[in-house]
Amino acid sequence: MSQTDIRQKLGLRPVINCSGTMTSLGASIVVPHAIDTITAILSQWTEISDLQRIASRTIARLTGAEAGCVTASCSAAITLACAAAMTGKDLAAIERLPDTTGLNNEVLIQTGHMVSYGAPVEQGIRLSGAKVVPVGQATSAYAYQLEGAITERTAAAVYVISHHVVDYGQIPLKTFCEIAHKKGVPVIVDAASEYDLKIFLEAGADLVLYSGHKFLGGPTSGIIAGAKDLVAACYLQNRGVGRGMKIGKEGMAGVIAALEAWETRDHAGIRAREQKALDVWTRALDGRDGITAIVDPDPTFNPLDRLKIFIDPEGANISAWDLADRLGKGERPVIVRDHEVEHGYFYLDPCNLHPDEEYIVAERLTEELDTARKSNEPIVSNIEARRLAQEAGALNWPD
Ligand SMILES: *Cc1c(COP(=O)(O)O)cnc(C)c1O
Repeated sequence: MSQTDIRQKLGLRPVINCSGTMTSLGASIVVPHAIDTITAILSQWTEISDLQRIASRTIARLTGAEAGCVTASCSAAITLACAAAMTGKDLAAIERLPDTTGLNNEVLIQTGHMVSYGAPVEQGIRLSGAKVVPVGQATSAYAYQLEGAITERTAAAVYVISHHVVDYGQIPLKTFCEIAHKKGVPVIVDAASEYDLKIFLEAGADLVLYSGHKFLGGPTSGIIAGAKDLVAACYLQNRGVGRGMKIGKEGMAGVIAALEAWETRDHAGIRAREQKALDVWTRALDGRDGITAIVDPDPTFNPLDRLKIFIDPEGANISAWDLADRLGKGERPVIVRDHEVEHGYFYLDPCNLHPDEEYIVAERLTEELDTARKSNEPIVSNIEARRLAQEAGALNWPD
């Protein structure tokens, strides 16, 4: 950690993020243009609706949407979009939410999309006052089920793009939109963690929601893009349930800057840098007993590969979860992507590294695997106990 690392001053651990664009780790490295813009606007007065107008034009340019607006987070955007679908521009109805008396208040979502990104998607819907109507079962949803679930009370249908959702047996977005539109139901797409700013609108979505602080490298924020009237109705929710979800001038200006930077980002260069990290890690693990590493493309087709590392305790003398935990400790903690670790593997995500951190990660892997090798007993802790300890640990804050 360099002398100028703010984390040292604050007493924080100098974590290296191989996990992904995780809110719990600070989401992403904010791009320099956004940092400069945020610094410049913080001390200035500005007319917020004009700043949102500029954001709208910028979002429209990048997404192909009619309009856009910025809010606190993608999670907030889910709530605002559902609220907008129920109230339209009716200011009295906006002030009455979450009481939905007299409004169409049913929001459809496939059961396999009712996932948690850190909070439940469907809670974001309910927060608007809407009633969640699940479609299909966890691993299967059919067009007829979506069609059959639409009533005269239906306000919107939500579609989630994420590695969290069930990745088979779901209705493709295009079909989903066609069925909803046949009955005049708008489709809201949660694309929080997606690179592509156009394809979901092209597939027919009426509103698409992104996180500003994930791949875009903006400050903590949510981006809403889509049909002008619906976007306007989202923005108007700031007079109601959206007030507590509003974004400040620094967030808005930062998102505009991050979107501008996205337009000129050297995507090929970044990809090459990520590939180099994967190569460094593959070489470090090559020939080690019990370790198999494969390059794994992103499950939702973001242009991004991760290293998927299978750990067989018989050969490596350590389980995948114990290795993940040990990597996350010490002077140079490396946080890996371990949400499927009970299957005996974790991922290394190369897209949030500072220059040369890939070498530290390789050293840490070598270090921990060498230490495990020297242990007399295989290091395999009880995974269920680990899970329960993590749940209990969450309740210990702030101690
Ligand atoms: C991250 C994420 C969210 C939440 O985004 P925030 O901007 O952090 O609120 C919602 N949906 C999905 C699919 C996500 O990955």
